[in-house]
Amino acid sequence: MGSGEVIEADVLCIGGGIAGLMAAIRAGELGAKVVVAEKGNTLSSGAGGLGNDHFVCYLPEVHGPDVKPMIEELRKGQMGPRLKDSERARVWLEHTTEIVRLWESWGIPMKYNGKYEFAGHIYPDSKFPSHIKYAGRDQKKVLTEEALSRGTSIMNRVMVFELLKDQGCYSAIGFHTRTGRLIEFRAKSVFLGTGTVTRLYQGLTPAWMWNATRPGTLTADGRIMAYKVGAELYNVEALEHHAGPKYFTRSGQATWVGVVWDPEGNPVGPFLEKPEKKYSDMIIEVNKGLFAEYAQSGKGPVYMDCEGISDEDYDYMIHWMKQEGFDALIDHLKDKDIDLKKRSIEWATYGMRGSCGSIWQDVNGQTSMKGLYVAGDETTRGISNASTFGWIAGEHATQWAREVDIGPSEQASEVIKETKSFLDEIMKRETGADWKEVNIALQQIMSDYAGNIRSKSLLEAGLTHLQRLRAEARSTLIARNPHELSRALEVLNLIDAGELVCIAALERKETRGQHKRTDYTYTNPMLDKWLIIKNVDGLPVTEWR
Ligand SMILES: Cc1cc2nc3c(=O)[nH]c(=O)nc-3n(C[C@H](O)[C@H](O)[C@H](O)COP(=O)(O)OP(=O)(O)OC[C@H]3O[C@@H](n4cnc5c(N)ncnc54)[C@H](O)[C@@H]3O)c2cc1C
Repeated sequence: MGSGEVIEADVLCIGGGIAGLMAAIRAGELGAKVVVAEKGNTLSSGAGGLGNDHFVCYLPEVHGPDVKPMIEELRKGQMGPRLKDSERARVWLEHTTEIVRLWESWGIPMKYNGKYEFAGHIYPDSKFPSHIKYAGRDQKKVLTEEALSRGTSIMNRVMVFELLKDQGCYSAIGFHTRTGRLIEFRAKSVFLGTGTVTRLYQGLTPAWMWNATRPGTLTADGRIMAYKVGAELYNVEALEHHAGPKYFTRSGQATWVGVVWDPEGNPVGPFLEKPEKKYSDMIIEVNKGLFAEYAQSGKGPVYMDCEGISDEDYDYMIHWMKQEGFDALIDHLKDKDIDLKKRSIEWATYGMRGSCGSIWQDVNGQTSMKGLYVAGDETTRGISNASTFGWIAGEHATQWAREVDIGPSEQASEVIKETKSFLDEIMKRETGADWKEVNIALQQIMSDYAGNIRSKSLLEAGLTHLQRLRAEARSTLIARNPHELSRALEVLNLIDAGELVCIAALERKETRGQHKRTDYTYTNPMLDKWLIIKNVDGLPVTEWR
């Protein structure tokens, strides 16, 4: 395994998703020397890699001069729990106007038939529609070009897995997932944009762990680096749900023009009786778990019914499905001759989704550590948040970089030496468990001990199992090539994430949302707060805020 390469930057963006590229573009145009280290390829990587079709946007000419009513409206939908910080919500929404216009000027179609088209994620009586439909299919190509045109250096196939604060600036260690080369980065400020977390819990089809709502390469790398270097994470214990076509796990429920029906042909929710292209059926946002509840009580299956929609509305839906990256599903429907105008589709709740919470962020996108910035699914959710706070954070990361010098690295060379010998050892082993076996064991533990049913005894047992799994994984993991080695590093991060989830879940002694404690079955209004977790001298410390 080669090493020795040192790359310096004013701003290092770890992750070239929507947030990372927006941070890079903004920092680049402000004159910073920017490097993007991306695990995949920025042209198609991350949750936005195949496209998206909804963008939360505040337009004063549509919504009026005050953003507050829109925040109130958004609180009623799936974003509700994340909008507790009103100031952050205000800063985000007020900047969306600028970002929508910027994206349009770069060539991402933000209008439909010449107008902003508000549709989906909306209650029928809403006066503050918040999501415009946009054609995001090529968004990653456009953002990559914009970043390159501002002088950004993009390093694809580089997974960053270690972050160190060193002499007032940061060192990071990356690994080329094809050649196995180790790379040291030295940066005045660092932006984290490694997205959400998959592969921590069993999905709907445990044998196919890549069958997840988001790409399987999103593995808590940013959260664990942030935690280890001392930044605060919060609500790590939260569990989420998602729903969509059964066994065809995919985000994007609001792109469907249909109504959710029970087997007797009755709408499950009170919001729609027939498909209406302006509104998605909001019952899914009110309760994504309903499909599992119906199945478990024997009342299911539950269907998404688009029957009876006009040809025009059908074409409208398929148009947006293509922007949303639904190609595999569309091909499958075509291949099996399934006509959505005549046949309803069975839907399911997609197992558990634990994202190991969020990295704490202020309104400038700064984490609790100076010079370390974050945006996107690592802290909030959705394309609008990712792009807006990526932009804001890129600006502030550049300002910070102007105040700092890159000094000689004291810790980094020592850590690189240790890492190199650990990775060499994994590569040299001839027998042992590969990343998949360890990942399956991890998902089993998380689902059985920190899943839908949680209690002190279960979580404590889960923690013990995780600690054993980590020790075993470190001493037996094998990797037959650099690609497998990157998967092994991901799994080690996921084990760390699982441990933090258990510790935070033990601390939250109540039931809230999907965090269900059998020993604390009620929701405690006194705990309607953020649970912060941070690393103090190598130990996890929690705090209510
Ligand atoms: C099918 C689908 C449809 C969706 N539809 C919508 C929608 O219509 N509207 C909406 O608002 N949201 C939608 N979303 C969510 C939206 O795509 C995400 O919120 C958004 O992409 C988050 O951007 P991000 O930059 O934070 O993360 P991502 O876009 O996921 O980017 C993270 C990047 O980090 C890289 N990375 C990870 N780890 C490392 C590492 N260790 N080193 C280097 N690089 C790393 C990844 O490869 C990836 O490129 C959808 C998601 C999916 C999957």
